[in-house]
Amino acid sequence: MTEKQYGGSTGRGKENSIKTSMQNSPTSNPKQKKKEILQKDNSSKMTKEEKIIEAGKIAKKVTEYARTIIKKDMKLLEIAEKIEEKIIELGGKPAFPTNLSMNDIAAHYTPSYNDETLAKGLLKVDLGVHVNGYVADTAFSIDLENSEENKKLIEASEKALKNALEIANEDISISEIGKAVQETIESFGFSPIINLSGHEMQQYDLHAGLTIPNNDNKSTLEVSKGTYAIEPFATNGSGKVYEGKPSGIYALINWKNVRSETAREIAEFIETEYQTLPFCSRWLVKQFGTKALFGLKQLEENENIHQYPQLIESSHGKVSQAEHTILISKEKIITTI
Ligand code: MN
Ligand code: MN
Repeated sequence: MTEKQYGGSTGRGKENSIKTSMQNSPTSNPKQKKKEILQKDNSSKMTKEEKIIEAGKIAKKVTEYARTIIKKDMKLLEIAEKIEEKIIELGGKPAFPTNLSMNDIAAHYTPSYNDETLAKGLLKVDLGVHVNGYVADTAFSIDLENSEENKKLIEASEKALKNALEIANEDISISEIGKAVQETIESFGFSPIINLSGHEMQQYDLHAGLTIPNNDNKSTLEVSKGTYAIEPFATNGSGKVYEGKPSGIYALINWKNVRSETAREIAEFIETEYQTLPFCSRWLVKQFGTKALFGLKQLEENENIHQYPQLIESSHGKVSQAEHTILISKEKIITTI
């Protein structure tokens, strides 16, 4: 998934994201409760870095698998379910619902439980794997209508990602990475989407800390040791997104009590299964039936959960995306390659 910037982009996602602006009560911060749960979990002897690398290996295999199964006019629902089943089969868990965004939808489209939409046009496949909360976030785009323009857009975002990954390292400023993305995409005659960005990741926190811009935003903030998703978006449109329809993708933001029993039951399931990672209505309908939709509505109204909007290119240009996860520690490892 990606992070939308609001107002001036400082590089610190926390200041700009809807998600965090709603986390205003320290006593009900889900991230604090999360730590208590995690301390009890000694099930795995892997180190933190080994888990980050393992999540990346699974994500790479699932990407290879996804490339072999996706065909024009296949149901998006079938694609998403096959991808998510493969993640589990390989020993990971989905870190967020598989995003299958087509054409001018830049990001945050995931099929609903009864979705009949068919794959077509320029399709972005953005998938996430976690191992004990350590996330690999990766995306690719495919052309399902044999279009030269689509193929060029795909090449532009892939080349931009390659150039960004080459220079990404400790102590480089985030604007230098953004500059490499922007210059590469512009060299193809396209625009980067400047209000979408890559992001730092921490355990059970998909959008943590630093953001990685897709343009030269002049920020002097520097990359330090950590795990980052870099994700250039290229478009033949104006280079910005707006917030569209609700996506059916949510994340827990607040633990406060909710009156309805259904909503409470669903909240407890979310807490156990997803913690603070994104999830979707489709997953909950699978578990609880369609009464989950009612429970989710109540949880959203009660501000226990936040729903992400779909992100649409402003001038309805076509959008391509490429994304990898990079671990910067003693050495630099691209975990999803
Ligand atoms: Mn991402
Ligand atoms: Mn992603």
